[in-house]
Amino acid sequence: MSSLAFVGAGPTTLYTLDALLRQGPRGVRITVFEAQAAVGLGTPYRPGWNDPAMLSNIASAEIPPLTQTLLAWLQSRSPAELEAMGVDIAAVSDRAFLPRLVLGRYFESQFQSLLDTAAKAGVRIDVRAGCRVVDAVNRPDGLELVFTSPDGKTARSLFDHVVLATGHQWPSRQEARPGYYTSPWPARALAAAPPTDIGVRGSSLTAIDTAVALAAAHGDFVRDGEALTYRPGSALPDFHITLMSRKGLLPEADFYFPLPHAPLAVCNPAALAELIDRRQPDLLDAAFDLFRRELLRIDPAYAEATGLAQATLEPFGEAYFQARADADPFVWAEANLAEARANHATKTTVSWRDAILRMHEPIAAIVPI
Ligand SMILES: Cc1cc2nc3c(=O)[nH]c(=O)nc-3n(C[C@H](O)[C@H](O)[C@H](O)COP(=O)(O)OP(=O)(O)OC[C@H]3O[C@@H](n4cnc5c(N)ncnc54)[C@H](O)[C@@H]3O)c2cc1C
Repeated sequence: MSSLAFVGAGPTTLYTLDALLRQGPRGVRITVFEAQAAVGLGTPYRPGWNDPAMLSNIASAEIPPLTQTLLAWLQSRSPAELEAMGVDIAAVSDRAFLPRLVLGRYFESQFQSLLDTAAKAGVRIDVRAGCRVVDAVNRPDGLELVFTSPDGKTARSLFDHVVLATGHQWPSRQEARPGYYTSPWPARALAAAPPTDIGVRGSSLTAIDTAVALAAAHGDFVRDGEALTYRPGSALPDFHITLMSRKGLLPEADFYFPLPHAPLAVCNPAALAELIDRRQPDLLDAAFDLFRRELLRIDPAYAEATGLAQATLEPFGEAYFQARADADPFVWAEANLAEARANHATKTTVSWRDAILRMHEPIAAIVPI
């Protein structure tokens, strides 16, 4: 019998375990070590780490299903559970964005389902909750993991195979100096920041998470039909948040795109694999040329407006951001959100946005080269 250990019980372990179980493994003993007491949630989706007001940026339609899709799992929850999670099931579709904590509950429940599947198939899985792996040592007869148990004792175990799925690592001291945070997570620590004049370095998704956590700590978001209003707590004249941004841009809203993605004719995995095989020093420029040709084919009007036919990588980078950089970021964000909402309602896809989304994964294959 061979032995396999997973270090960490977050989404990476869930999907790896799922793929393994689908192969019908025989004669394997599996151990899952998880530093936290709750198993399966992963880091960003567990309570305390994120504020309940923080939404995930991935919808059910984009999350590969484990034993169920996120939407099917939600539809099978009791009214009391849904209420506790703050989910209005009538308003949820497979394109809806839900609080990250809901994703945590989903992954936790899917992990239990995977354990049940394994048990039925006769695959033994030991789950070691509250056990932090502190070292991995290469031995002639396998990999030795050194771990601390919930009682504080240190122990060792030898495995034939180890999957390190420890995810994100964070600075050990979140508040490096009084009032100066090197990371907004765990979000619960931000709630202790007083309602004063607060600067946030950056203006993208993490900055927005930070602003939402601070705002939720010092007031309420009130929904009235379609409208969402922020109501500050009492006596907060000094509460002010400044997002400090190098480019002065806010992130764009999620846009409608068809799933599954349509295939790409030019900048596709086969074309990129061929470029990578050639091992030429101009790999990035050659990949950009595929990107350029694909966009010229899919959205000639966008290509014309950004001068893409003649562009090289750097000028296109500038052209891509130009219109946003020229606009007031909040005015742009409002218009962009309205456009995205209208397109979701009519299932309209902006061709160039969809093309860039589809190309980012094939192009990512060049990164390790
Ligand atoms: C704040 C934040 C928000 C995010 N939001 C989104 C989002 O909305 N949508 C999205 O698609 N992605 C999001 N991501 C990306 C997200 O991290 C991944 O989707 C996913 O969580 C990665 O899964 P993972 O299993 O690799 O790592 P993690 O989720 O980090 O899980 C790692 C697990 O390993 C455990 N662990 C770590 N060290 C040890 C150790 N030494 N011994 C034992 N156990 C250990 C941890 O406790 C944890 O349970 C977000 C990331 C962050 C940081």
